[in-house]
Amino acid sequence: MHSAEQIPLTTRVQILVRGIVQGVGFRPFVFSLAARHALTGRVHNNAIGVLIDVEGEASAVEEFVNEISLNPPPLSLIESVELSDDLDPANYDDFRIIESAPDGEKFANVSPDVATCQDCLEELFDPQNRRYRYPFINCTNCGPRFTIIEGIPYDREQTTMRDFEMCEACRAEYENPLDRRFHAEPVACADCGPRVTLTDAGGVELALDSPGGEDVVSRARRLLLGGEIVAVKGVGGFHLACDGLNAEVVRRLRSRKYREDKPFALMAGSVEVVRKYCLVSEAEESLLLSASSPVVLLARRPGANIPHTAVAPGVKMLGFMLPYSPLHHLLLEKLDRPLVMTSANVSDEPVCYEDADARKRLSGIADYFLWHDRRIHIRADDSVARVHAGQEMLLRRSRGYAPAPIRVGFKFARQVLACGAELKNTFCLTRENHAFVSHHIGDLENLETLRSFEGGIEHYKRLFNLRPEVVAYDLHPEYLSTKYAHALDIETKIGVQHHHAHVASCMADNGIEGEVIGVAMDGLGFGVDGRLWGGEFFVADFKDAERVAHLDYVPMPGGAKAVREPWRMAATYLHRALGDDFLNLDLPFVRNFDRRAWATLRKMAATGTNSPETSSMGRLFDALSSLLGLRDAVNYEGQAAVELETIADRSCAEHYGFEISADGCIIKADAVIRRAVDDLLNGFSPQKVSAKFHLGVANLIVTIAQSVRDRQHLNRVALSGGVFQNMFLLENVCRMLRRDGFEVFTHSRVPTNDGGISLGQAAVASTRLAAGRI
Ligand SMILES: [Zn+2]
Ligand SMILES: [Zn+2]
Repeated sequence: MHSAEQIPLTTRVQILVRGIVQGVGFRPFVFSLAARHALTGRVHNNAIGVLIDVEGEASAVEEFVNEISLNPPPLSLIESVELSDDLDPANYDDFRIIESAPDGEKFANVSPDVATCQDCLEELFDPQNRRYRYPFINCTNCGPRFTIIEGIPYDREQTTMRDFEMCEACRAEYENPLDRRFHAEPVACADCGPRVTLTDAGGVELALDSPGGEDVVSRARRLLLGGEIVAVKGVGGFHLACDGLNAEVVRRLRSRKYREDKPFALMAGSVEVVRKYCLVSEAEESLLLSASSPVVLLARRPGANIPHTAVAPGVKMLGFMLPYSPLHHLLLEKLDRPLVMTSANVSDEPVCYEDADARKRLSGIADYFLWHDRRIHIRADDSVARVHAGQEMLLRRSRGYAPAPIRVGFKFARQVLACGAELKNTFCLTRENHAFVSHHIGDLENLETLRSFEGGIEHYKRLFNLRPEVVAYDLHPEYLSTKYAHALDIETKIGVQHHHAHVASCMADNGIEGEVIGVAMDGLGFGVDGRLWGGEFFVADFKDAERVAHLDYVPMPGGAKAVREPWRMAATYLHRALGDDFLNLDLPFVRNFDRRAWATLRKMAATGTNSPETSSMGRLFDALSSLLGLRDAVNYEGQAAVELETIADRSCAEHYGFEISADGCIIKADAVIRRAVDDLLNGFSPQKVSAKFHLGVANLIVTIAQSVRDRQHLNRVALSGGVFQNMFLLENVCRMLRRDGFEVFTHSRVPTNDGGISLGQAAVASTRLAAGRI
């Protein structure tokens, strides 16, 4: 006898899974899950995500649904799982994967590029495997994505892999739902896929020395170890590679690239090799090994045998990444030393990604070229990250991250295009609760970068089927991104103050809303009063930012030149604090001082000629750096401040005190400068003075936050701006604020520098629109 409950109940459910679920092995995963639970039905990609239609025993269906969220494929990112039941039975007799239907509105999410997975690595080095040593091995869990996609829906015909016709063996894998290469669009093998070639700078292909004994990649490695510079075509662009332990070749690369001091990134074959040169925590190790595979900034191991002054002059950290493409794995195979792997460009130009352009621009730099014939459709630089408080903190968000959207805690009222700022530009497009923050575009200072900015925006609009109705831009009238916004054929345009955007970006990064104490410590950003801000305290939400305190204005004699020459800021601050007496100080800074140049600058500042006023904290860091004799002129943005941070004595607990006006609004640095000078005259080390300055800034932030809390009953502090890339400062500020009971928010998913501005602009513009403020 059976009771009614024991008769298996059959149900049919439709499941819509949203998020990054295409190009990541989701359908094969669903297929085998259904097989395991003896369910029938269909699964296919649609414009929104993956749609599953499944029927079978009710309890099995329930387990099936639960497992989708619990154990999804490693690269997928599920945003929601929506169920519709109450459906009439379809009486499927099997479970099938159906080809994507290209109809409907197109906005499935495109996956970022993914580092080679463990399964593919094993095959790569397995002599029995048919892809043994094939430099383009990949599967549904790994390989190029964003950089090869030309359009949507995401299938092979819409990628640069359409140049290669699959052989029978590859096609069989591609079409088998149970194969781990099922619909892996870049699938290929040595018989049918891309190939590598090695040429000299003149384009002549190199003969291999021992036929059958050495392959192209091994030959390239031998050149590298012999002290040559090789341009290597990668995933999102070319690298310039050389032996990281050979100081002579690293210097040669620097001089050919016109890159005097900016640190070079390194690539090592394994974490073990990285550990020879750096200290690697558990969190840092998993970041190195992550599918995004960024350059990770790591503390150098004391005494490590690396030509530090050639690789990364003036900084304590080294930037390491691990191989993220099979070609890299082959190139670094069994290599017990790191290679310099720096973006292939001259000076500050964008990185090369097209063959013809690389040939032209790199022929004076590289001795040899390691080419491949898979086209890169869109350039994507290596991302740069570090670990802060056990958490990933992105400093440059690009390959491996973009174009995955940043999910925010609210819905964008309309589709917004935010154009970002000038340096380290990114743009951002929005839909619903997603912000598609672009890959790193670069400094919008030349035509080439402007082109990739404009082209990038069009590409994102196509990929995600976006039609922005609103454009947000920075208030600086001279930024190319601002000019672009003004010229656009979109009626609603919203200007967002630079540092309000910073604070809003930090809030969106953390998924918070409402009022916060916003602290923006930055280089330069255009203020609503037309001056250049950068040491700002706000009471802010997404709509408004009320400036409650700021560093006092000082002139920047020479404008942009004062950014490149920190000694101008040092002299300006010394003159304010001590008057002309500073010229009699017995300090190295004054002894090496160009009095004639200063006399001119003083006049300029006094008459306001080409001397914009600034409240920038970044410029104050510059001034201190120069005063301590570290750096009078910089070769890259932020260099003076980086070197000031590098020397700070971590054991010091004392700090300088800023003067705050009676109403709490104006912060003067004069006393800080006077104390620093006294300390130097009394024989204190620059290391000590640097530390006391850093801790002085940290104390200032806490003091202002306390007074805002007392007045306005706010307890949340959002920290943003390029100055917070300074870890000595950031760690102390966070520690002191938390000790005082504040809730502290810092950046992790988007950079604290201007790379995060576009996200903040989008949040502010959308919120103002929703509030009817436009
Ligand atoms: Zn793989
Ligand atoms: Zn093949």
